Amino acid sequence: TKDSGRNGHTFFTEAMHVSANRQLKLLQELRRAMQRDEMVLHYQPKFRADGGGVIGAEALVRWQHPGLGLLGPDTFIPIAERSGLILQLGDWVLDQACAQLRQWHDAGHPDWSMAVNLSPLQFASTNLLETVKTTLEKHALAPHFLTLEVTETTAMQDVEASLQILHGLTEMGVKISIDDFGTGYSSLLYLKRMPATELKIDRAFVRELEENAEDAAIVSSIVALGRSLQLQIVAEGVETAGQRAYLNELGCDLLQGYHLGKPVDAEEFLRNAA
Ligand code: C2E
Ligand code: CA
Ligand code: CA
Ligand code: CA
Repeated sequence: TKDSGRNGHTFFTEAMHVSANRQLKLLQELRRAMQRDEMVLHYQPKFRADGGGVIGAEALVRWQHPGLGLLGPDTFIPIAERSGLILQLGDWVLDQACAQLRQWHDAGHPDWSMAVNLSPLQFASTNLLETVKTTLEKHALAPHFLTLEVTETTAMQDVEASLQILHGLTEMGVKISIDDFGTGYSSLLYLKRMPATELKIDRAFVRELEENAEDAAIVSSIVALGRSLQLQIVAEGVETAGQRAYLNELGCDLLQGYHLGKPVDAEEFLRNAA
């Protein structure tokens, strides 16, 4: 009826209003959180698929919210991206992750590497190259210890400019990983142009690997493709021993997932590796 339609409409706009307010509040809180040092990094181990040990970690940002507890990136990265705050957050993540890696190198793990996720806006900022260079120097890390994980959407907003930055990074010696591979729209064209060193198979293809012959065929094709392009192949989202064994058999080099190691704080990461 007309009435319910109007009520529905009213309800909808009110909900939107609340949500806009909520978002603004969250953004203000996030700004403050960064000043108050409430952001933390957790680290998820990357393992050699053949049963060898940890080769390093991926840094994943969290917000230790005073009232709400530990918040995952999905709750605040979108707001950080829309507001531009991601530039400041991204710089902090890079610096913090490199500082952590320096500590681990000094604590007896001098060959561990660190992977950091990049967001699209960090490519738009012209000083990404400079930021990476000075951050590595600050922590006395050789560039090959750092992997930057980018997705198709990360790098393809302004293709030419992004590619130029990515080439600059690889020339410096920094490694580039294509994250969530296989989920984008133009994966092959993208792959051809990307100066990547690593392919990360999205966990959508890992989840039903053992039951679904198509997923297994896709993974095995990605491995073959990556091989011929001389890329390191990583599978993410490994949750079972069966998946782990199968992915090793299919030729993946590195594995990540809850079965091998969940993202944990720096202390626990080091304890687990000992
Ligand atoms: P991602 O880069 O694809 O990271 C992998 C996500 O999968 C992480 O979620 C990780 O905790 C989760 N994961 C790892 N192993 C498993 C598993 O076996 N099963 C399942 N179901 N999940 C697993 P998280 O930490 O919530 O991060 C979500 C996304 O947020 C990341 O996806 C990344 O795109 C973004 N993100 C995280 N940290 C940063 C950051 O510092 N900067 C930027 N720009 N983005 C970040
Ligand atoms: Ca990633
Ligand atoms: Ca991923
Ligand atoms: Ca993902």
